[in-house]
Amino acid sequence: MRFSEIIGNEALKASLVRMVQGNRLGHAILFTEENGGGAFAFALALAQYVNCKEPAADDSCGVCSSCHKYQKLIHPDLHFVFPVSASTALSESEKKGPISDYFLPAFRELALANPYFTEQQLYDAIGIENKSGLISVNEARRIFEKLSLRAAEGQWKTMIIFLPEKMNLDAANKLLKLLEEPPQGTLFLLVSHNPERLLPTIRSRCQPIRLLPLSREERHRVEGDRTDDAEFREIARSLLQAGLDKRIADLFPQWEMLADLGREKQREWCLYMENYIRKIYLVAGGLDELADLSSQEAATVRDFAAKIKPTFYEKAFVALEGTLSAIGSNVNPKLTFCDLADRLLLAL
Ligand SMILES: [Zn+2]
Repeated sequence: MRFSEIIGNEALKASLVRMVQGNRLGHAILFTEENGGGAFAFALALAQYVNCKEPAADDSCGVCSSCHKYQKLIHPDLHFVFPVSASTALSESEKKGPISDYFLPAFRELALANPYFTEQQLYDAIGIENKSGLISVNEARRIFEKLSLRAAEGQWKTMIIFLPEKMNLDAANKLLKLLEEPPQGTLFLLVSHNPERLLPTIRSRCQPIRLLPLSREERHRVEGDRTDDAEFREIARSLLQAGLDKRIADLFPQWEMLADLGREKQREWCLYMENYIRKIYLVAGGLDELADLSSQEAATVRDFAAKIKPTFYEKAFVALEGTLSAIGSNVNPKLTFCDLADRLLLAL
């Protein structure tokens, strides 16, 4: 991954590069992001940059043999640690002490397709969707083994730890030892959502970097081609159609479905819905080009644009913003989405 491919936090790209060039990069960096905010992409780009054979002034070259392997996430000096749990896909012996390496193919596939993945998207991708992942002491032992070897090719061994706050105490103490006496040429890149849950002694040994949350527009660019789109689009469509037809009973299955999604997905759906309604608004105002309609949505969006009254849009955005803040403050999801469906129905 090159810095130029990352969406958002533009100023951070330049300051990371300056840190490398001025030899001011510590041996451990603690990135903090909002879930899905792109810190993993920054960790990857930084790891690729420090090992690039022909780095430019502002980015890795993207074409040298090292960059080539980093871009496929197969460089022998690039290591990943992330929370895991026993999944049914593992063998009986693996289930006893699951570690990240067992899930690497699925992890690589996810990170290549969407380096802005959220915690839930990680669990979905590695097949432990209903459990919460953990970084165990087995994993910490494995980190020791990997880092005690010399760098295979690169100048730096890079160890990206996604959600280090998921370490149990044994694992955290082992990592602390490594951070206190880091093996020569090792760069630790931690990506955290809750750094306050880390041992203070771990935090104090890391250079802290906090990412700004993505703007709405950046978030839409990140989520442009997500696979959930078909499902999200269908919920959005049915909700608006039932509202337009004043078929109150038909709203019920939609809000039930939304209430059953995880919080992260609920949040994603609300952002999707806002974007969907924005597209209808643009088409209704004759600005089809700006709406950037996909072939799957064009006919329905045009149909809605012809039927929905102009007073709807502002009310819908207010309602959706209210829903987003309710999701953030853990309000009962059934009530939250029942209320949203109600408000959309009244506004239509
Ligand atoms: Zn390169």
